[in-house]
Amino acid sequence: MTVAAPKPAQLPADAVKCHCGFVIYDGEVVRSRVLNPHKQLAKCRCKAWVKVPVGYSFSTGK
Ligand SMILES: [Zn+2]
Repeated sequence: MTVAAPKPAQLPADAVKCHCGFVIYDGEVVRSRVLNPHKQLAKCRCKAWVKVPVGYSFSTGK
C-alpha cells in the first residue's frame, strides 16, 4: 500500500509530529483514528502513542 504523504512546507509551532515522521496534529486537527482524551494521547499509524494537545473535560457534576 502506498500512501502519498503530503509534505507541508511549514508547520505551525504547535503541530505534533510522531517519531516516524507522521504529522499527527497539524495545528488544527488530530489526524488519528484512536484518541485517549484523558491522557491526551493519539495513536499514530505506526501504532505509537503520541502526546497531542487535546483538551477534553467532562462536567459530570463531580
Ligand atoms: Zn508514528
